[in-house]
Amino acid sequence: MPQRTTLAELLADPSAPARAIIAPSSGAALSYNDLAEQVERLAAALRGAGLAPGDCVSIVLPNGLEVLVLFLALTRARLVAAPLNPAYKADELRFYMGDAQARAVIADTANAAVHDAAAKLGLPVWSPTADARGQVWISPLGPAANRVPEAARPDDVALFLHTSGTTSRPKGVPLTHTNVLCSSLNIARHYELTPEDRSLVVMPLFHVHGLIGAALSTLASGGAVIVPPRFSASEFWGLARAHRASWYSAVPTIHQVLLARADSDSAPHRGLRFIRSCSAALAPATLAQLERRFGAPVLEAYGMTEAAHQVASNPPPPRPHKPGTVGVGTAEVAVIDDAGHHLGANMPGEVVVRGPTVMRGYRNNPEANAAAFIDGWFRTGDRGVLDADGYLALIGRIKELINRGGEKISPAEVDAVLLEHPAVAEAAAFGIPDAKYGEEICAAVVLKADADANELAAYCRSRLADFKVPKAFHIVAALPKGPTGKIQRRELSAMFKPGAK
Ligand code: AMP
Repeated sequence: MPQRTTLAELLADPSAPARAIIAPSSGAALSYNDLAEQVERLAAALRGAGLAPGDCVSIVLPNGLEVLVLFLALTRARLVAAPLNPAYKADELRFYMGDAQARAVIADTANAAVHDAAAKLGLPVWSPTADARGQVWISPLGPAANRVPEAARPDDVALFLHTSGTTSRPKGVPLTHTNVLCSSLNIARHYELTPEDRSLVVMPLFHVHGLIGAALSTLASGGAVIVPPRFSASEFWGLARAHRASWYSAVPTIHQVLLARADSDSAPHRGLRFIRSCSAALAPATLAQLERRFGAPVLEAYGMTEAAHQVASNPPPPRPHKPGTVGVGTAEVAVIDDAGHHLGANMPGEVVVRGPTVMRGYRNNPEANAAAFIDGWFRTGDRGVLDADGYLALIGRIKELINRGGEKISPAEVDAVLLEHPAVAEAAAFGIPDAKYGEEICAAVVLKADADANELAAYCRSRLADFKVPKAFHIVAALPKGPTGKIQRRELSAMFKPGAK
């Protein structure tokens, strides 16, 4: 096959009659040639609606065949896809859509928060439908009379996402065709994916893990993706059996849920080629239990939005996979000290990455970019150590993030919402260890008027997606602060973690 340079060439074989996408909820299945035809048709319709190259379109949809078809159509048309979590509240959506400079929104008609946010920004909302054959239509866009749009270029931005920042403002991450395509091909190559493979997609497609790690990697290798609307533990093994899944990728929280119910769900003892874990730390004990119960190698990987997902992963057999590590670099990976010097094996420091999958920089954020890059390497904000075989172990985090079951929460964003409450004088969100999610979010609050935890929770729930709402509020007389007045979140975590006195 000639070298692929843009996402228009992502599909392993666009003329193949083989299955590409299976939507179990409607029973629709798309072949590669159906998919390729639809991408051309919808790309023409989107450009026919008046969008110009480089324009951004927000997609706010649950997982499904529509998201993948629309993503490929938008990028085919030289437009930028900006998928967003449908659980976001109107204020969050307004920020993300505004920051992405979206020109239109594709969402379900039933999502009131989207309509509210889009109306405030003066954006049209288009609704997609898929018929029983998996043909996607966007209302009110008609069939375009236009010619097929010109080809995208490798440097065109294809995907625009946000990552939680150290301030309350999330950072915009533009990923080019090269970034996303190279990452999808890397992942396909690393796990030796073939047209025989079928990936059961349980991670959201608005995040790089689901979109690139599970779905695009599979489409790049000619296999099939099985895309239910959401992860459902009770339906997981039925779907895996019915559609002959050969692998799945998920966060440790999902693996643990599947493991806990494996016997009552009559989960199979073998059948998967491998299980991939990414986006949060997988305990070696859980890895061992998963391997024992499901009879498949469990390969832990390390990914991040800024690097179009995978940075490192344990390899499939016969190469060894090492529990407690995230495997070998699939991008260039190194470890540096505080002064920026590269460190040798067994010396802990900050993990840095570079290569064709890494973004060129956050959008409109020179300050964040100055801090994020060093000599062409991207600083991950994670601490790690490489062993003599080049396997990376993650040992901590420099950046201030709460990783709740793979969903990243910026504590500063939660502080900012709490500080808007009229009874709150000071607020600090922080993470505590949690058996189910790895970390859970809590908040400490200094009050200047009467309020209780229920009221604060309701206030947060009206402004923040549920996963960002603190599970406990601690009313305190003062917040612990360092010599420069910086709130000591680590101290709060130690004070309020389970079992602390
Ligand atoms: P995101 O941009 O949402 O993909 O988040 C990226 C961050 O998730 C990384 O910088 C890490 O802090 C964390 N992460 C990803 N994979 C792992 C892993 N296998 N173990 C621990 N943390 C991880």
